[in-house]
Amino acid sequence: MEKQEFTNSRNLCWNQTCPEYGKINPNNIRKYGHTNKATPRVQCKTCKKVFVETIGTIFYGLQHSEKDVLECFALLAERNSLAAIHRLKGIKEETVVDWLLKAKNQIEQIEAVLLAKNTR
Ligand SMILES: [Zn+2]
Repeated sequence: MEKQEFTNSRNLCWNQTCPEYGKINPNNIRKYGHTNKATPRVQCKTCKKVFVETIGTIFYGLQHSEKDVLECFALLAERNSLAAIHRLKGIKEETVVDWLLKAKNQIEQIEAVLLAKNTR
């Protein structure tokens, strides 16, 4: 269930002031053309904000599942150390650092969503 939600993470609104923020609601998000780099864009029908549909792309070509990656990010967001993550998840510290580098433009958004989920 959780994984399904994350898999569809591009179908949510990233605008923190929007009522649909952090909710998985594909009906609320519509395709909205492309950037000049051909990255697909989507628009939230509620707040009319446009987002680049790249939130799922950090997972491409990784050795671990999207769920593992997001769980590690969630652990980091809860102020766990890389050593603690290695102990808990059995994933090497340098692997997590590599994900962080890939995700650096999106990590704040991912953290915001994970933390929003946790406090619900
Ligand atoms: Zn919105």
